[in-house]
Amino acid sequence: MIREFFQPDTLIKALQLRGDYEGASLLAGGTDLVVAMRDDRGPEGIMIDLSKVHALKGIEAAEDLIRIGPMTTFTEIEDSALLQEAAGILREAAKTVGSPQIRNRGTLGGNLCNASAAGDGFTPLLCLDAKVELQSLIANGTVTTRILALEDFIAGSKKTALKGNEILTGILIQRLPASSLSAFKKIGRRNALAIARLSGSCVLKLENNVVKRIRFALGASTSVPERIKAVEEYLMSRELTAEALAETGKLASEYVFSQTGARSSSSYKLPVIEKFTVSLISAALGGKNKI
Ligand SMILES: Cc1cc2nc3c(=O)[nH]c(=O)nc-3n(C[C@H](O)[C@H](O)[C@H](O)COP(=O)(O)OP(=O)(O)OC[C@H]3O[C@@H](n4cnc5c(N)ncnc54)[C@H](O)[C@@H]3O)c2cc1C
Repeated sequence: MIREFFQPDTLIKALQLRGDYEGASLLAGGTDLVVAMRDDRGPEGIMIDLSKVHALKGIEAAEDLIRIGPMTTFTEIEDSALLQEAAGILREAAKTVGSPQIRNRGTLGGNLCNASAAGDGFTPLLCLDAKVELQSLIANGTVTTRILALEDFIAGSKKTALKGNEILTGILIQRLPASSLSAFKKIGRRNALAIARLSGSCVLKLENNVVKRIRFALGASTSVPERIKAVEEYLMSRELTAEALAETGKLASEYVFSQTGARSSSSYKLPVIEKFTVSLISAALGGKNKI
């Protein structure tokens, strides 16, 4: 049961409360938290609602860096012309989240902090080399900032590197160069309200059909969303032929099998991962390179 509820209207007040009541739960859009509370899995004690903290909202660009406030909703990401041009896969992922109602309330920060393997914010951000900014207040009132690669923020299934006195205050990405090819894909149980059964993102840069840069990440396939380095290392500096593409599918499914072992779902999931990988990379190529 929640005993005390705070609604600070500045970041400093929110950080102060987070420091005073270490481990108090933070409320963003509530689409994960409130569902958990209804199922008696939710937080107890003290809750700090971040909805009035304007400093945590919005999308800004400074040269090649884009900063997304954690309280930015999926609808705002979907509607952002800046992200469409500079980080289209994040916008593609946002469009697939839940329903319009969930996208209107659910935030990117809540998605990352909830740390579900199926969280749709992760694979595009992993492919965009995203970093997270975590802030806390120390005793003399000074704000301390930690910047972590998103990969290091993911500490395990449903676990993050966030400390009890910290708030996620920003998500930082580099603008994708115009020549980059990218795609996001997701398989859900059904179109509406679909939590991913498998999702993934890919960012590629080719020169004369040779891979010069690649990021490839899968979600909902292992315990945490992650970049599949076996695929990236195999493709790097290689000509993207039909054979090479087919091999990526095998490498991805072998990697997932090495992490999850044999499960009742393996006979379905592993061939699906193989095909999904090939189709995701093909989608990034977008017909520009015929294979
Ligand atoms: C019907 C339904 C459909 C859904 N469909 C999808 C889907 O398709 N894809 C998908 O990825 N998710 C889906 N979700 C899950 C959920 O909507 C998302 O994970 C959403 O992004 C959570 O954001 P929120 O703002 O609601 O977070 P909240 O529920 O408010 O918080 C989630 C967690 O993050 C913490 N937190 C929030 N903000 C911060 C911060 N700034 N600093 C530190 N900690 C913070 C909270 O304390 C809490 O632990 C669905 C949920 C429902 C109910």
